[in-house]
Amino acid sequence: MTERTPSAPVRVRLAPSPTGFVHIGNVLVALVDAAIARQTGGRFVIRIEDTDQRRFVEGAEDLIYTSLRWLGIEWDEGPDRGGPYAPYRQSERLPLYREHAERLVAQGDAYRCWCSPDRLERMRQAQQAAKQPPKYDRRCLGLTEDERRNLDGYTSNSVVRVRMLDTGTTAFTDPIRGTVAFENSLLDDRVLLKSDGFPTYNLAVVVDDHVMGITHVVRGEEWLPSTPAHLRVYDALGWEPPAIAHTPLLLNADRGKISKRRHPWANMQWFRDEGFLPEAVLNYLGNLIAFVPDPENATPGVARELFGFEDLVAHFDLGAIGPSGKVVDLDRLDWLNGQYVRRLSLEDLATRVTPYMAAAGFEVGSLPTFRSALALEQERIKRLREAPEALAFFFRDEEYASTTLVPRGLSSAQALDLLVGATDVCLAAAGANEWTVAGLEERFRAHAESLGLVTGKLRGQLFGVIRVAATGRTATPPLFDTLAVLGPEVVARRLATARAILEDSILVAVQ
Ligand code: GLU
Repeated sequence: MTERTPSAPVRVRLAPSPTGFVHIGNVLVALVDAAIARQTGGRFVIRIEDTDQRRFVEGAEDLIYTSLRWLGIEWDEGPDRGGPYAPYRQSERLPLYREHAERLVAQGDAYRCWCSPDRLERMRQAQQAAKQPPKYDRRCLGLTEDERRNLDGYTSNSVVRVRMLDTGTTAFTDPIRGTVAFENSLLDDRVLLKSDGFPTYNLAVVVDDHVMGITHVVRGEEWLPSTPAHLRVYDALGWEPPAIAHTPLLLNADRGKISKRRHPWANMQWFRDEGFLPEAVLNYLGNLIAFVPDPENATPGVARELFGFEDLVAHFDLGAIGPSGKVVDLDRLDWLNGQYVRRLSLEDLATRVTPYMAAAGFEVGSLPTFRSALALEQERIKRLREAPEALAFFFRDEEYASTTLVPRGLSSAQALDLLVGATDVCLAAAGANEWTVAGLEERFRAHAESLGLVTGKLRGQLFGVIRVAATGRTATPPLFDTLAVLGPEVVARRLATARAILEDSILVAVQ
């Protein structure tokens, strides 16, 4: 472990805004929080930052809890479980923020601003045109309301702004990034208290992190530009700031920033909808932030591919995450998910797959052979959402074009011959009570030989005709396993249908 990893018990918090959307980046932060809390015997707090009433979405808070619980991430304090610093929703703590805003104004570290939205917009445009950084021009600084009222762009709805320093730099040590410094003259006097009396994020986050005894703030890199304003507030209130760590951005495969609009997987819900297993998602995110060595591998430095939360905790090192963006590779996640799917017991897989089947209109209770069918697909499925499509032909006869029944290089008449012969083999196997994988395999091998189909290609043509006839598809799990699960009645019916389809197509062709 590096010296930057805390050893004393930490108090960390996830401070999500309930906007109805749980960003995958927030989940990554939650995982870091949970890991260091567990590692140091500390406490993990959830605080709901709901002071932006316009963005509030009903039910969003529960979605945060269910998303984290789904992954197996637990917390110690929060609105849902209480704790020594309750309430944990910022909308229930408003007087506290107002009180601190007043104190900052009284001290001269913050000031009221009566500029109308209109004036601020004109100022912003002028700055943009002049290629200046966007920054409040301090029109209201040092003025009383009466003095300000006589100037243009006045509104009676005032806000409170922090007064940033004019010179020097603001520097801090980020446990992930090392020293980060900002030039004070470039920093904006951000709003701390809005005209509706609600605090902005920049005030509430500081007051709460301090009052709640947070020792380590962990948040996404996108909050880095806000940190100097927070440090200014800590300083003005005479408080020691916590350690503040900014986790790297998650990037798409092109190393670009992920966007809610273009990358549906920015939303945590997507992983559940697609049927990624929580174990796999946690493992995948864990891979992005920690190096877990493979104990089986004699060569040091080889990472373990599959691991769980406890392994992450054992090897987690905040200082080793590194500041550079982490590419989210969905192919890799698919691979990992497939590994977890294969390791599930059939019972467990069936339980997990059932809602996906139901959503696609398949009632698993209606298919007595469902477990056996699922066992065949367990090797092939990557995401659980693929299951309905993969298993559909066990539930219903599928439509297909007659040409699919005709292997490349054969005529329809030849395909029909193969099908008729195969139908006899099936009938014989059923009649002899040998409808098993081994029974079918043996009879079909003998049949192929009797037809002189000795090469792999010729056999492939025979098996291809049967496969399409019995399943409606060209790609399925191994043929005899599939036939065995479908059962003799279904197979006989479908082969008869296929025969009729081929006969019709031949008739049409000669007419
Ligand atoms: N409310 C902020 C968010 O939605 C919290 C940022 C922080 O952790 O300071 O992510």
